[in-house]
Amino acid sequence: MSRKTKLICTLGPATESEEMIGTLMDAGTNVFRLNMSHAKHEWAAEMTKRVRRQAIQRATHIGVLFDLTGPSIRTGDLPAPYTLAAGDTVEFRKTGADPTVELSTTVNYEGLMGDVSVGNTLVVDNGALLMRIDVVEADRILCHVKTPGTMGSRRHINLPGVRLNLPALTEKDHKDLALAVECEADYIAGSFVRDAAHVRELREAMKALEGDAQLVAKIEDQEAVRNIDAIIQEADLIMIARGDLGTEVEFEELPLLQRRIVKRCHELGTRVIVATQLLESMINNPTPTRAEVTDVMNAAYEEADALMLSGETSVGRYPERCVDALVRISTRIERSGGQGFGQGMLLRDERQKIAKAAVTLADSLPDARLVVLTRRGVLANQVAMLRPRTAGFYAVTPKESVCRKLSLTRGVRAIKLAFASNIEETIQRVSEQLLKEELVRSGTPIVIVSDILSDHFAANSILLHHA
Ligand code: PGA
Ligand code: MN
Repeated sequence: MSRKTKLICTLGPATESEEMIGTLMDAGTNVFRLNMSHAKHEWAAEMTKRVRRQAIQRATHIGVLFDLTGPSIRTGDLPAPYTLAAGDTVEFRKTGADPTVELSTTVNYEGLMGDVSVGNTLVVDNGALLMRIDVVEADRILCHVKTPGTMGSRRHINLPGVRLNLPALTEKDHKDLALAVECEADYIAGSFVRDAAHVRELREAMKALEGDAQLVAKIEDQEAVRNIDAIIQEADLIMIARGDLGTEVEFEELPLLQRRIVKRCHELGTRVIVATQLLESMINNPTPTRAEVTDVMNAAYEEADALMLSGETSVGRYPERCVDALVRISTRIERSGGQGFGQGMLLRDERQKIAKAAVTLADSLPDARLVVLTRRGVLANQVAMLRPRTAGFYAVTPKESVCRKLSLTRGVRAIKLAFASNIEETIQRVSEQLLKEELVRSGTPIVIVSDILSDHFAANSILLHHA
């Protein structure tokens, strides 16, 4: 039985060679992520080409995900990093305002002073430095340092619990989005999405450029968590971005939030990715810590669609071993069963009820396979969210781009195949293909569900065929 949990690798200096990309595909990568916070345009376009070439060589469907930087708040340029002791006063000021204390820096978000209040916590560099805001003025805030450390240039600032009025997309994001569309990205992720309107804005901007990627909403702060239902319903996929989210909430809240969001995604029928620090120690070490093994196992047990590697594969020393570790851990837990949140999916329309009936039928037949005939992948994703337990689950679709857009969907294997003009022949073709690939034996029951319309086959019908 093949692995159900899909895997995302972030590309970077450690993995940019075409050979390494091929190696990571062979190891089990389903999607490659380009982190636009670091990637130059020329490089991102070249990486996309390498991924596509290697996928064609292997006759497999591998996705490319462009991850937009999003609106992040950063410290200004400092001549040299500040070494900060507990109790020191630090100033963050608008560009153009004069410093009033020695330890002063500009900040790239003009609206900051309007959004924060005295008493708020300000976190620099993903938790490396904690400060408390003591003074808020029109063009500056003053903080005192709570945990000592160094503060460098362009360091990331988080404000846990503060409602920020940042835009959904920055100028840079618009440029990166245009590149993503030009490269025919399969997935585009929006960072620091805080409500459904931000996802809509991204979708409209992409449509205006005639892109048709699947949109990933990265859940990175408390505001997003408050608006989670609306975001889940607007996005194609949710990413639990544990890096930033773990800075924005108390750390003991993070596992509960992860579980709640994964569950809600199942209920509302939206795919979900668990990201960040799954194998952090493997950036430098060849084997995972026991805690990491347990964390990966938990995410696969929750039946997330995909797991994502960041630094582990972009700059780490053991990228291939990281993919191998995810493969081993997720395959192992899949053998022993999962959380079963798919059982709780809310069946809100006829399509979802048909999907449920097909999954129930297939799961009840010994050694059955499940096939979805789909033009755009919508029904395949609905079926996948029900987490069928059949030994094989295939989405048959005529378009390569749709196959790639299923590369993050749990449990499904996409098969590119042209539909015939009548349903009997289409089923015959599918059956022959599965036999040829040795995915079924003669006589294997195949439950076929479809949302395609053809002369002899109504959309939303279920059919039981024997190979
Ligand atoms: P990033 O997002 O790697 O782009 O910061 C993921 C996260 O915050 O976990
Ligand atoms: Mn992030």
